[in-house]
Amino acid sequence: MDPANDQPAQNTDSRSPAIPEHGSTRVDGPPRLHFEAAIFDMDGVVTNTTAAHSKAWKQIFDEYLKVRAESHEEAFVEFTHARDYLGFVDGRPRFDGVEAFLKSRGIIIPRGSPEDGLGSETVYALGSRKNVVFNQIIEREGVSVFGGTIAMIREMLARDIKVGLATSSYNSSAILKRAGAAKLFETIVDGLDLAVRGLKGKPEPDIFRAAAANLGVSSDQTIVFEDAVSGVKAGMRGGFALTIGIARENNARELRENGADMVVGDLSETTLEQIDQLVQDKRTRAG
Ligand SMILES: [Mg+2]
Repeated sequence: MDPANDQPAQNTDSRSPAIPEHGSTRVDGPPRLHFEAAIFDMDGVVTNTTAAHSKAWKQIFDEYLKVRAESHEEAFVEFTHARDYLGFVDGRPRFDGVEAFLKSRGIIIPRGSPEDGLGSETVYALGSRKNVVFNQIIEREGVSVFGGTIAMIREMLARDIKVGLATSSYNSSAILKRAGAAKLFETIVDGLDLAVRGLKGKPEPDIFRAAAANLGVSSDQTIVFEDAVSGVKAGMRGGFALTIGIARENNARELRENGADMVVGDLSETTLEQIDQLVQDKRTRAG
């Protein structure tokens, strides 16, 4: 600090030492925002990993469905991205996704346990097999990030918004490290934390609430950013200031119908000012 700034004669902006330079009462810079925190989903919001997930699930499920079709003398119906990945698996905790998809095909198998061998016919074994394939894919192809999201996060941090991440992924630390994005987040709550703490996965709001609580901010001061239907449902159910849907697929309508207050194709299409205005508009409407 330059001591000269403390000389009253030179201090033309009349800033008193009693007014902190940072936080809600600062007198210079852009105006105060009307929310305190933002929680980002990881896959499809921060990291461009959706294709790798979908590809890994397709490989595992198609292998399984083929064997099953043969042994039951039924027709093989392949796993598709649009119907099956987006409809049943995207955003959910891994093993919930397996169950939801199989249920959609009328298939019920034992849930099993994490110790199941990879060849077992259980929900856990199928989920674990997918994880092996997924890790092979990102090892081979790397992890890229969405520039629009990273720019938004940096702007938020510069304006004293707390930023956290909430993902159903069990691999968040490896993926974020590989993407070079781990340091952006003050708190990270992932699938492992959910399992350890016995919390419910998306579409229940527990994971977003846990992240907001770690930041010391209430839900009604927190904005959720999500690309999956299960995640926008979680945001809506959790009573957050706003849930913003990011439609990476052709699914803007589904995101809106399931609770997103605004849907964009990428965060570069909006601004912090627009988001802040939406927070205020929503509060006004709620009275
Ligand atoms: Mg996602």
